[in-house]
Amino acid sequence: MFDWLIVGAGFTGATLAERIATQLGQKVLVVERRNHIGGNAYDYYNEHGILVHKYGPHIFHTNSKKVWDYLSQFTEWRPYYHRVLAVVEGKKVPVPFNLNSLYVLFPPRYAEKLEKLLVEHYGFGVKIPILHLRESAEGELRFLANYIYKHVFYSYTLKQWGLKPEELDSSVTGRVPVYISRDDRYFQDRYQGMPKRGYSALIQRMLSHPNIKVLLNTDYREIVNEVRFNRMIYTGPIDEFFDYMHGPLPYRSLRFEFMTLEEEWHQEVGTVNYPNEYDFTRITEQKHLTGQRLSLTTLVVEYPQAYQVDKNEPYYPIPREENRERYVLYEKEAAKLEGSVLFAGRLADYKYYNMDQAVARALKAFKEEIAP
Ligand code: FAD
Ligand code: UDP
Repeated sequence: MFDWLIVGAGFTGATLAERIATQLGQKVLVVERRNHIGGNAYDYYNEHGILVHKYGPHIFHTNSKKVWDYLSQFTEWRPYYHRVLAVVEGKKVPVPFNLNSLYVLFPPRYAEKLEKLLVEHYGFGVKIPILHLRESAEGELRFLANYIYKHVFYSYTLKQWGLKPEELDSSVTGRVPVYISRDDRYFQDRYQGMPKRGYSALIQRMLSHPNIKVLLNTDYREIVNEVRFNRMIYTGPIDEFFDYMHGPLPYRSLRFEFMTLEEEWHQEVGTVNYPNEYDFTRITEQKHLTGQRLSLTTLVVEYPQAYQVDKNEPYYPIPREENRERYVLYEKEAAKLEGSVLFAGRLADYKYYNMDQAVARALKAFKEEIAP
C-alpha cells in the first residue's frame, strides 16, 4: 500500500517524491517507463569515460535561490558558464547576439555606429527580443534587426520547430534576446553550474529514501490496477493520459547523433549553433560542460524532427495559441478528477520549462496542493 503513485522519474517526479517522503513521511511508488531515472536530464558515462547527456545537453541555470538551495542538498556544483557561438556568414559570433557579435561581423567603424545606436535607443545592459527589435523606427537598427533575424533566427527556428519565428509565441525566440552588453555567457542567471557528479547522480540522491520505491521499465498503465495507492501524480504527456480525446498535442522531437573524436578539443565553446548550414541545429562538446580532462572528446549533434507517437520522444511542447487552446481542454479534463490525480511537469503542463522551472513548479505543487 502506497500513499502516492508518481508517474515519471524526471526532475518533477523526483522533487515531489522527495518532498512527500521526507516532509510528510508518506510512502511513494515512482514508476518510470524508461530503463533509467532522470527523465530528459539523464546522463551516463559512455564507453570512453565521457559523461554524456542522452537526451541533449542540459545546463543548469536559475535566478531562484529557493531552487538552487533545494537542489544543493543533493549535489555539489561545478561552476560552469555556458557559451555559444553561431556560424554566420562563415564567422563564429557570440549568441545571444551582443556587442561583441557586431564587431565580429561588421567593419569596426560601422560596428561602433550600431553599438552607439543600440545604447542610445535601448540602454546598455538591456535585452531585446529579436521580434521587438525588428519593430524599431530607426532605419539602421531595423537593418541590424533584419540581419540578425535572417542570419541567426529564421533558418534555425524553421529547422528546430518547422515554423517561422512569428508563428511561435514570442517567448520562444525571446529566450535568446539581443543583448546590449559585452557579456558572452548564454545565460545571465544568478546561479549557474553543472551537478558535480551529473544529473543522474543528483536525482538518484533525491530518490534514495526508505519511503521511496522506484520501478523502472514500467508504464504506469501496466500496474495502476495492481497497486494500491491513495493519490497519483502524473508527469507524462497530458494528452496521452486522456487517450488523446481532444486530439494529440503537437510536440517537436530531435534525433541525437553522438560521435567521439581522437582529439582533445573540437570546438572553442560548449555549443556551436548552425543557423543556416546543414540539417542539424547545433553541436555540443560534452567535456566543456563536465570539465573532464581526457585525450578524446564526445560531441552530440541535434537533428530536429517531427514527433510521432511511439516512434520518437515528445521533447518540446510547441508554444503557440492554437496548441494552448487544445491544452486547456485537457486541463479541464484534469480538473474533473478533483485532485485524485495531480498533473505537473513539462509534458503534463505542456509548458517549455527549464529544469529549474520544473523543480519550482513541483515545490509549489507540494506546498499548495499536497501539504497546504
Ligand atoms: P521529463 O524529464 O520529461 O520526465 C518525465 C518522465 O515521465 C520521463 O522519464 C518519462 O519516461 C516518464 N513517463 C512519461 N509517461 C510515462 C508513463 N505512461 N509511465 C511511466 N513513465 C512515464 N533545461 C534546462 O534547464 N537547461 C537545459 O540546458 C536544458 N536543455 C534541454 C535540452 C533538450 C534537448 C530538452 C528536450 C530539454 C532541455 N531542458 C533543459 C529541459 C529539461 O529537460 C526539462 O525541464 C526537465 O527534464 C523536465 O522534467 P520533467 O520531470 O517535468 O519531465
Ligand atoms: N534560436 C535561434 N537561433 C539560435 C539560438 C536560438 O533561432 O542561434 C531560437 C530558436 O527558435 C530556438 C529558441 O531561440 O528554438 C530558443 O533557443 P534555446 O537555445 O533556448 O533552445 P533550447 O536550448 O531550449 O533548445
